[in-house]
Amino acid sequence: MFDYLIVGAGFAGSVLAERLATRSNKKVLVVDKRNHIAGNAYDHYNEEGILVHKYGPHIFHTNSKDVFEYLSNFTDWRPYEHRVLASVDGQLVPMPINLDTINKLYGLSLNSFEVEQFLESLAEQVPVIKTSEDVVVSKVGRELYEKFFRNYTRKQWGMDPSELDKSVTSRVPTRTNRDDRYFTDTYQAMPLHGYTRMFERMLDHPNIKVMLNTDYHDIVDFIPFKEMIFSGPVDEYFDFKYGKLPYRSLEFKHETLNTENYLAAPVVNYPNDNLYTRITEFKALTGQKHPKTSIVYEYPKAEGDPYYPVPRLENAELYNKYKKLADETPNVHFVGRLATYKYYNMDQVVAQALTLYKKLTEKSEEVQKATVKPTITGSAAILDKLVPRDPAKE
Ligand SMILES: Cc1cc2nc3c(=O)[nH]c(=O)nc-3n(C[C@H](O)[C@H](O)[C@H](O)COP(=O)(O)OP(=O)(O)OC[C@H]3O[C@@H](n4cnc5c(N)ncnc54)[C@H](O)[C@@H]3O)c2cc1C
Repeated sequence: MFDYLIVGAGFAGSVLAERLATRSNKKVLVVDKRNHIAGNAYDHYNEEGILVHKYGPHIFHTNSKDVFEYLSNFTDWRPYEHRVLASVDGQLVPMPINLDTINKLYGLSLNSFEVEQFLESLAEQVPVIKTSEDVVVSKVGRELYEKFFRNYTRKQWGMDPSELDKSVTSRVPTRTNRDDRYFTDTYQAMPLHGYTRMFERMLDHPNIKVMLNTDYHDIVDFIPFKEMIFSGPVDEYFDFKYGKLPYRSLEFKHETLNTENYLAAPVVNYPNDNLYTRITEFKALTGQKHPKTSIVYEYPKAEGDPYYPVPRLENAELYNKYKKLADETPNVHFVGRLATYKYYNMDQVVAQALTLYKKLTEKSEEVQKATVKPTITGSAAILDKLVPRDPAKE
């Protein structure tokens, strides 16, 4: 009998397995239908011996000290601040847009103050910001929107930014200084020996059993367990009762080149040219030294593995119907990006899993307190029967 069946060996499932096994001494079975642990963060050495991320570049960044310290139990880190260039009008310019982007693109030599005024002069008045288009044109105007955002978003989402929730482009800042870092979080680093190694260390405990190549449907009726933690797609769990939750997918085309370095930056975005959105060079992320180099192209597509929940109002409403079912399902806990239908970064999923662990332990402590009765006799025992017990006060 397992205390927990955990579906999915990504961040959500593995963090919970680790906490439950090591802190609460629970017996845990982790199943994943893929042939590896680490979920979408999975990395491996390819046939040339270069460390690559199978599901596209994963860069760790967080403002949460707790999350960073928690993961540091399982890995050392390589300090790494991510940088991206965008190929626009035949030039490679910093992305997010900053002072250098504007100066290079328009052949100017503005300072921070002047660029702020320049962007203000381009910005359009948008009375109510609703869509992804509104966010950008109200900040930098239509021309920069067309050059950097419109076609990229169309490729990435198969929809015009005017049809997408404002959250998609709100994430991308505009800077009037020369800061060309992609993220500004307090902690930015890559696991020194890769993500998969970090997951191996998380799951390495006698209380944890891992079954790969296993869809949970195939075992759920045969393996006894008390509670389930589910990090797969929530609509799939309920047999698509209300219909499919829409996702955008990607195809990854990996290549190894016979040259030591290939790109001018770790990632180059192609908003307007090519069918792919971006190219990543892995050695720039991992710091690995190798005479060859490995890159990956990302081609967005409608069908395939579910990667990005599509942020539109009707999808949020559909998810809410599934959430209601999930909340009403006893002894099953839904966690992670697929089970809660949200685009979460890795650190957010770790935080979500740690929060669920806390909730589970509080719940089991309450149950223990409510069920363990002191062995007392005589009048005290009678009193015990008469006075309702309040576990919170014990
Ligand atoms: C292209 C791309 C790039 C990203 N880059 C970054 C980045 O740079 N930085 C960042 O912080 N985040 C990034 N993310 C987000 C990151 O991948 C997620 O935050 C993280 O993987 C979520 O972990 P999870 O455990 O919720 O889901 P997952 O990692 O997807 O794990 C869920 C697991 O459940 C398994 N599963 C599903 N259904 C079943 C079933 N029926 N039976 C058994 N197993 C099942 C799946 O096989 C999967 O392994 C990126 C995501 C994508 C798609």
